[in-house]
Amino acid sequence: MMKERLKKIMENARTQIDETDSLERLNEIKVGLLGKKGELTEVLKGMKDVAPEERPQVGQIVNETRQAIEEMLENARTDLAKKKRELQMKAEVIDVTLPARKNNVGHRHPNTIALEEVEKIFVGMGYEVVEGPEVEYDYYNFEALNIPANHPAKDEQDTFYINDKILLRTQTSPVQVRQMERGHLPIRMIAPGRVFRADEVDATHSPSFHQIEGMVIDKNITFADLKGTLQEFARELFGEDTKVKFRPHHFPFTEPSAEMDVTCFKCGGKGCRFCKGEGWIEILGCGMVHPKVLKMSGIDPEEYSGFAFGVGLERIALLKYEIDDMRLLYENDARFLKQF
Ligand SMILES: [Zn+2]
Repeated sequence: MMKERLKKIMENARTQIDETDSLERLNEIKVGLLGKKGELTEVLKGMKDVAPEERPQVGQIVNETRQAIEEMLENARTDLAKKKRELQMKAEVIDVTLPARKNNVGHRHPNTIALEEVEKIFVGMGYEVVEGPEVEYDYYNFEALNIPANHPAKDEQDTFYINDKILLRTQTSPVQVRQMERGHLPIRMIAPGRVFRADEVDATHSPSFHQIEGMVIDKNITFADLKGTLQEFARELFGEDTKVKFRPHHFPFTEPSAEMDVTCFKCGGKGCRFCKGEGWIEILGCGMVHPKVLKMSGIDPEEYSGFAFGVGLERIALLKYEIDDMRLLYENDARFLKQF
């Protein structure tokens, strides 16, 4: 009777285990068979009713049945776990046909594009790009550039003073002075950077804007070198056919000084709305470095000479991209900036 019961339990277990499709169900079956109140446990409890001489044999069958069921359960568990993992892997497969998430990449500001273009031209001519502090000593910003104490540019209404010796630089020229003081000659440099002036904001003015200044100091540098260099610069920036003209001007740190105009790149010099009928567009200031400026920075004007020039970065960006209001460059309206 006992053997019959065990045989039935075994068959029943096999059917149940074979039909199982989840690990949770398998666990229920295990508890139902081998648990405290499980079928096989119940059989063991009935051992006391088995005749003593049959007990060893029945005991052995019980053990064998238990072992066989445990083995079946373990095999089923391994199979189900494997299947579960396979299903998971399938569900997690990356669908390469799905559209990619849009990656919003920004792009360079028109000022930056213009600056990189100017830098490329001068670096191509062997110039070094040099930077300097935006908070500067009055000495470097004015005095060392031959701008005396009573000069109108030093007026507090034009310059942001931190105290009477320190200010926000009004031009990038102090970078040139610092470079000259280092005394590594010859010098071939451009100094781009932000400058500050106490101006009200309008279409052509801003309290903060950018300049690019350049300077060459070497033996036998003449005005012809200045003209040739800046003509080449204008051609590379505005096009092959661009012509330049120099008008006498005055700057305290250069002598002689000039302003350079370029032929309008819209009409080629005939005169149009863009150049206001002039045919020429004013582009930069330049001149031969004043002997006093050289001397103040420890360079012998008898041995060395040089030229310097300064151009407004915004002026170039406005001209190149035909923008008629400087404020547009600072408002950072993405709809406007996207156009460049
Ligand atoms: Zn024109």
